[in-house]
Amino acid sequence: MEKDKKEYFRNRLLEMKKKLINSLKEKYEDAKSLDESSGKDLADEAYYLYTKTLMLGKVETDALKLRLVEQALQRLDADTYGVCIECEDKIDEKRLEYVPFARYCTECKSELEKSGKIKM
Ligand SMILES: [Zn+2]
Repeated sequence: MEKDKKEYFRNRLLEMKKKLINSLKEKYEDAKSLDESSGKDLADEAYYLYTKTLMLGKVETDALKLRLVEQALQRLDADTYGVCIECEDKIDEKRLEYVPFARYCTECKSELEKSGKIKM
């Protein structure tokens, strides 16, 4: 991959990383304030558990994404960015444009998703 392109994707990844960290922080804060304000009766309790589960689900997704972004930055440093880690084919740049932290080419990704090996 050309140097300019690599710089471009590096900037996009760093931007994503910053946003993910901020949103993770916010969600942890929300979850904490929910803990403090949780009510005593059963209806409140159910609502609380429901909200908390939803929140934690989002935190999990963001945390997973953050890990993928960090791995992509490592691949940029190691000069293996934009190469499918499964079949070692080049990942389509249009796909990278859409998902800068993509690890797999489109074919491998749909295969792995079908077999349930990956979530993202
Ligand atoms: Zn592949």
